[in-house]
Amino acid sequence: MENRNLRLALQKNGRLTENSLQLLRNCNLDIEKFNDRMIVSVRNYNLDLLFLRDDDIPEYVQEGVADIGIVGEDVVEENKAEVSVVKKLGFGKCKLRIGIPESDEIDNIKALENKRIATSYPNILKKFLKSNNLKANVINISGSVEVTPTLGISDYICDLVSTGNTLKLNKLKSSLTVLESEAVLIKNKNLDELTDKYQIYSKLLARIESVLNAKNSKYLMINVPKDSLQTILKIIPSLKSPTILSLAEENLCAVHAVIPAEKFWEIVDNLKEAGASGILLLPIENIVY
Ligand code: ATP
Ligand code: MG
Repeated sequence: MENRNLRLALQKNGRLTENSLQLLRNCNLDIEKFNDRMIVSVRNYNLDLLFLRDDDIPEYVQEGVADIGIVGEDVVEENKAEVSVVKKLGFGKCKLRIGIPESDEIDNIKALENKRIATSYPNILKKFLKSNNLKANVINISGSVEVTPTLGISDYICDLVSTGNTLKLNKLKSSLTVLESEAVLIKNKNLDELTDKYQIYSKLLARIESVLNAKNSKYLMINVPKDSLQTILKIIPSLKSPTILSLAEENLCAVHAVIPAEKFWEIVDNLKEAGASGILLLPIENIVY
């Protein structure tokens, strides 16, 4: 009998693994213990997880071996996979950047012209060069790209950078940004909308979206003197209309609002100044619009 479960490919033992699993757990999925197995089922959802090397994920999804996958945008781009990118997931953020010797300066992209640039992202780099009308010698190296300038094999490198520590250790510094990447949800282009599998997929996507919405939002609760209410409502960057409640103390009211998480520290002093007290900021588990 054909397997009716949806199949999701994710990275086995890598930088994206823990965050991918956490996202799925936040979607209330109960994942079997896996101890190195390649296929693992989810106990409370028609979903199987397929653990792969990240480089294989785009192709597995393109070919329909897995229906959907979680992988870095960099890997999708590099593999030129024919898949739909459904959603950015907000983790695994990094930049593909040009690394140059510490003593060099690049003030113009033209500095790349005719240079030897080592990378394990040849397709992305070539596309970048082409779109900037530049010619350079792209050297394809699969690992430890950062040692190639010291070895005299390359002038520059093009590699993923987050802290820049690896570059520093090799007396390099980062320069131009070639690509910004984060983990994305990808989907097989032929997943048929009329199938049960598609229903399973779209319900899972709704859960993922609600978790992502919630993660970026917080629930703000404050007490406000009634005569400052209008001033305070102007300060709150509410995602929808705030709730205003009366309190036992007559000249006070409570304001509850869902706000973008990153705004809190920007507004907290203004709220206090306008007379707000008892300021509480609570996490939200899910937001279903
Ligand atoms: P695999 O064994 O699965 O092939 P890998 O060594 O190719 O693993 P990882 O180093 O685990 O890959 O990186 C996986 C993805 O994480 C990258 O494709 C990129 O999208 C993202 N990533 C890479 N470096 C960083 C970083 N420094 N910070 C955050 N995310 C990163
Ligand atoms: Mg890899």
